[in-house]
Amino acid sequence: MRVAEISVPAIRHNVTRIRELTGGAVIVVVKGGGYGHGAAIAAAAAFDAGAEIVATADLEEALALRDAGIAGAILCWLHGVRADFGDAVAADIELGISDLAQLEKLASAALSQGKRATLHLKLDTGLSRNGASPDAWDALFARTAELEAAGTVRVRGVFSHLANAGDENDRLQAARFDDAIARLAAAGVDPELKHLAASAATLASPHLHYNAVRVGVAAFGLSPFADKTSAQLGLIPAMTLRSEIVALRGVPAGTGVSYGFNHVCETPTTLALVPVGYADGMPRALNGSGAWVTVAGEPRPIVGRIGMDQFIVDVGPLAGRLSLGDPVVLFGDPERGYPPVEIWAGLMRTINYEIVVGIGPRVLRVPV
Ligand code: PLP
Repeated sequence: MRVAEISVPAIRHNVTRIRELTGGAVIVVVKGGGYGHGAAIAAAAAFDAGAEIVATADLEEALALRDAGIAGAILCWLHGVRADFGDAVAADIELGISDLAQLEKLASAALSQGKRATLHLKLDTGLSRNGASPDAWDALFARTAELEAAGTVRVRGVFSHLANAGDENDRLQAARFDDAIARLAAAGVDPELKHLAASAATLASPHLHYNAVRVGVAAFGLSPFADKTSAQLGLIPAMTLRSEIVALRGVPAGTGVSYGFNHVCETPTTLALVPVGYADGMPRALNGSGAWVTVAGEPRPIVGRIGMDQFIVDVGPLAGRLSLGDPVVLFGDPERGYPPVEIWAGLMRTINYEIVVGIGPRVLRVPV
């Protein structure tokens, strides 16, 4: 009844496009349940298309991917204070390490598991979130070098995340990243992968590619830029949010629609009921904003307030040819005639990321 169709070929296409564009390793970020697309579906598609690593924020999400049968390399970097690094080492999860305390905890976990742990050093070059800040780098690098020499850890990567605060700031963060790589080399550590760019820098700033990029939203076919569409970037949106007509009702002029009657039909018309609501991540505030869906392939306006489980579409001009069960598409690839998710994002003054990641757990993810 409520389905997010996830196009596996679209994810494969997007990852392949990014590999071709950068020529280096591609790490596909599948946190937030694969940006709402289903983390395991996304991870499998990413590896099919040649991704080197998939990444999550939390260890819980990383372990869930292993449990779902994802066998390739998995990285995660945002650790709860009580995160069990023993579980991570046992499951061969690569950990982003932001400070000495995390490093020591990982070393103990490696020793008690009798396994070498794989890590990526996470550095703060200016975003002011997690990652070691420059004044902590030398001590962190020196201890990392000791643990690598002892065979306790393998340093597979060094990475940082951009603030997307303009070219000048990108340059500054890249210069700090270069400095970190040089200081790390001086400490005797030369990681295989150096990754700074997420989707925006991957698509717009080739000088920031290093030998690996770490992309989320672009892998799902969505643009990280307000002024460029997916198609302009050669990307294919992977999610189509679908439902169906579950009731049709002819109404006279003057009929009030849904809670508060903030829509009143000006003429006689037909209303279609669609069982998707704000419990599914459809923003309640879309109401009255001009948002539209496709009904049996035709664009039609959403009318009246969106409920927890349902909303209403004015299908007047199509009425004679509609039946219960006819398809309704809430958003998808505009190249296929569907409303782009960016319409909702724009009306809600947010970004496409927040809309797709907010699609609720009742909505079945169906790989197609
Ligand atoms: N790297 C890190 C550390 C992130 O937190 C994120 C997402 O927020 C990404 C990469 C992927 O970003 P994007 O979806 O813009 O490619």
